Amino acid sequence: MKTEILEIDENSLAIAKDIIVNGGVVAIPTETVYGLGANAFDAEAVESIFKIKGRPNDNPLIVHVHKDYDVSALVKDVPDYAKLLAKAFLPGPLTMVYKSKGAVSAAVSCGLDTLAVRIPSHEGAQRFLKYVDLPIAAPSANVSKHVSPTSAQHVFSDLNGKIGLILDGGNSVGGIESTVLDCTGEKPVILRSGLITREMIAKVAGECGEYVYKDGMRALSPGMKYKHYSPACRTCLFNSDELDKAVVKYKEESAKGVKAYLLCDGETAERAKVRNVLNLGYGENEIAANLYSKLREGENVAELIIAIAPEKQDGVMVGVMNRLTKACN
Ligand code: AMP
Ligand code: MG
Repeated sequence: MKTEILEIDENSLAIAKDIIVNGGVVAIPTETVYGLGANAFDAEAVESIFKIKGRPNDNPLIVHVHKDYDVSALVKDVPDYAKLLAKAFLPGPLTMVYKSKGAVSAAVSCGLDTLAVRIPSHEGAQRFLKYVDLPIAAPSANVSKHVSPTSAQHVFSDLNGKIGLILDGGNSVGGIESTVLDCTGEKPVILRSGLITREMIAKVAGECGEYVYKDGMRALSPGMKYKHYSPACRTCLFNSDELDKAVVKYKEESAKGVKAYLLCDGETAERAKVRNVLNLGYGENEIAANLYSKLREGENVAELIIAIAPEKQDGVMVGVMNRLTKACN
């Protein structure tokens, strides 16, 4: 299959809609990462997403809808705190998990009685969702376990020949996947951290829990138990106070002829004073935005990525550290 990359306009939207209503998949931009979308009402189309990605079939998908879509047709028992959160943060990088009405295909939630819903803020995503006017089930548009894509080119390099169309909406400015929030209980609980932080949610909802998955537990959000976000080269991770150790490792490996690169924030890069650096930039939002593109750049040039954790560990950095740890294990 030939894979086309098209800018978003009337022509490409018409092609995308034609693919979607006929049970196919389309890669779409969002403000977090690119998604691989299919009609959530169409079981076969949804199942094809799992096949194309090689995704484990117990890892449920998020349904994406446009901002005027009637979400109450899909989910029930929406608590008051969720209404406040939706008002504060949607459209935006927050996925909310509710009890499902069972309207979409059971394949979306892999048999769970809940449904994860997201209203992306990306203008191109909104245009696409409005144009098709269907709930679109979409995980990240990468081969399963690989680094998530933040550009149309990233999607192309993973899925060339496997899908027909990538809608190009530029680089994803958020850079890490949405915050996934369980809204089925008395209080909201973060299942996956992201750009909408625990602090931001607690400020609006009064409180916010965080679910920490440990090996062997029943995963509330099945995606947690899988290896993720891995670049195709060796990796290792040092704490923020271990710059000296990381530089020794870099020098030892380089002396052996290994193409080693440091992956770190801008300030750390300045202090490290080494040649090969994948610089994540400054500040939590810039670091999140650059994380996946630098991991992908790294796997193309490096045999070993030596990552150094940022010093700041709260806020958006909780989400960044979650991905960085999984990428480097
Ligand atoms: P991805 O879209 O590939 O970034 O993955 C979607 C994430 O949302 C995974 O971590 C899933 O486990 C999680 N998720 C999707 N649907 C549900 C649900 N109904 N309940 C809990 N977590 C979910
Ligand atoms: Mg993913």
